[in-house]
Amino acid sequence: MIDIQKVTYRYLGKPALVEADLQIEAGDSVAVIGPNGSGKSTLLKLLGGLLHPSEGRYLLDGKEIVEAALKDPVYSRQFHQRIGFVFQNPDTQLFCSSVEEEVAFGPEQMGLSVPEVKRRVDDCLALLQIADLRGEHPWNLSGGEKKRVAIAAVLAMNPEVLLLDEPMNGIDPKGKAFLRDLLLRLNAAGKTVVAATHDFAYIDGLFRRAAVFSEDHRLVRDGSCGEILADRPFLARHNII
Ligand code: ADP
Ligand code: MG
Repeated sequence: MIDIQKVTYRYLGKPALVEADLQIEAGDSVAVIGPNGSGKSTLLKLLGGLLHPSEGRYLLDGKEIVEAALKDPVYSRQFHQRIGFVFQNPDTQLFCSSVEEEVAFGPEQMGLSVPEVKRRVDDCLALLQIADLRGEHPWNLSGGEKKRVAIAAVLAMNPEVLLLDEPMNGIDPKGKAFLRDLLLRLNAAGKTVVAATHDFAYIDGLFRRAAVFSEDHRLVRDGSCGEILADRPFLARHNII
């Protein structure tokens, strides 16, 4: 489904991701691991169509995702509907004046009927256990609550792929356990889940696969998440632990 071929990305000439090759099948769950600055967020932004390769290709179901195509509003809407992106900082994502409007925004943009929008909003608020916050202004919520609203807003579009950048960041232990269980359930229901993370206590048993990036922005390992997390010498060698 997702096919990243020899992708390099540079910010103002400085490499952030170097010749990454990564294929992700529908329904897979992948942890993107690596030290700070290794390119995890850059990879997720490329997958989410927020950045475009400086070199190499990104194919989705065999069709190349190019910047020009994403400038077309219809194509762009279809793409962002299929691939949902949950930003590391929910403040980047939330812009409406109530939780309910925030979650309704995506489905409304999709042109869904009023009852269908309502159904999706109700479902996603219930799924994230934030129904009691529906009238609140996102500004007034805690970090963990904002994160739940951001996830609900993305899930309301019912994307096939869920990209999450450091979803466990700034979340309390109870919130992390909830999020872990939610991601497991979403993946079991068929969604493809890709998350950049370094919260090993919570990702163990959550992802089937791990893609590990090194300080020189290269993909150095791609394999079973359990095996990689158990390989302490490897993680230490790459300054991950
Ligand atoms: P990670 O998420 O693994 O911490 P990033 O993908 O954020 O890594 O960053 C990879 C590299 O790109 C780092 O060297 C970082 O400093 C650089 N970088 C990230 N975002 C920007 C940006 N907007 N402008 C310039 N350089 C950036
Ligand atoms: Mg990052």
